[in-house]
Amino acid sequence: MPGRTKDAKGPKGQPDAFRSCISCMLSAQSLDRNTAAAAAALFALARTPRAMLALSDEAIAAAIKPCGLYNTKTRNIRRFCEVLLAEHGGTVPATREGLLALPGIGRKCADIVMSFTFGADVIAVDTHVHRVCNRIGLTQAKTADRTAEQLEARSPAWALRDGHFWLIQLGKRICHARSPRCEVCPVQDLCEYYAATAKDIA
Ligand code: SF4
Repeated sequence: MPGRTKDAKGPKGQPDAFRSCISCMLSAQSLDRNTAAAAAALFALARTPRAMLALSDEAIAAAIKPCGLYNTKTRNIRRFCEVLLAEHGGTVPATREGLLALPGIGRKCADIVMSFTFGADVIAVDTHVHRVCNRIGLTQAKTADRTAEQLEARSPAWALRDGHFWLIQLGKRICHARSPRCEVCPVQDLCEYYAATAKDIA
C-alpha cells in the first residue's frame, strides 16, 4: 500500500502559497534549474504581493531573466499581485476555482498549489505526467488539462498527490519524450505504448 512520498517537495521547494504561485508562473517553458535561479533572485527582492508591486518592471524582469519569457512573466506577476491584493487582501485563495480566477494561474499551477501547499487530494499534471499517462494508457487526452480531469475522475484520492511525484520521476528518468527507456521501465508490462511497439524495440 503506497504511503506518502517523503521526499516529494512542493513546487520548486516553495511552501508558501504566494511564492508557490509565482514559482509556477516562472516555470512555464523553463528548465527547473533556471526557474530556481529566477525564483531565488526575485524572492531576494520581494516575498509579498505588496513588496512585489513596489518593484519596477525592469527590476522584476532582470531578476527573472534566467527563466525566459521574462517580459510576459513580469506582466503576469504584476497583474497577479494587483488582483490578489484587490480581491483577496493579498491572501492566496485555497480553492481551485479561486486560484484559476487569478491572472497567470492555469490548471497546472492551481493544482500544484492545491496539492503541495494546501494538501488537497488533486494531481498536478505537467508535460511529464501528461506524456507518461497517455503512453501507459491511464488517460487518452490531447492536453495536460484533459489528462488531469481524466486522472482525477479515474484514480483513488490517496493516489493523486503522490501520483504526481511518481509519474514525474518516471517521465524524467525513464519515459523520456524522445527516447523512452522501455527496456528498464518498471511498468513495462502495464504500458499500452510498450505493447504496441515491443516488436520494434526488441
Ligand atoms: S514502457 Fe516505455 S513508454 Fe511505457 S511508460 Fe515505460 S518507458 Fe514509457
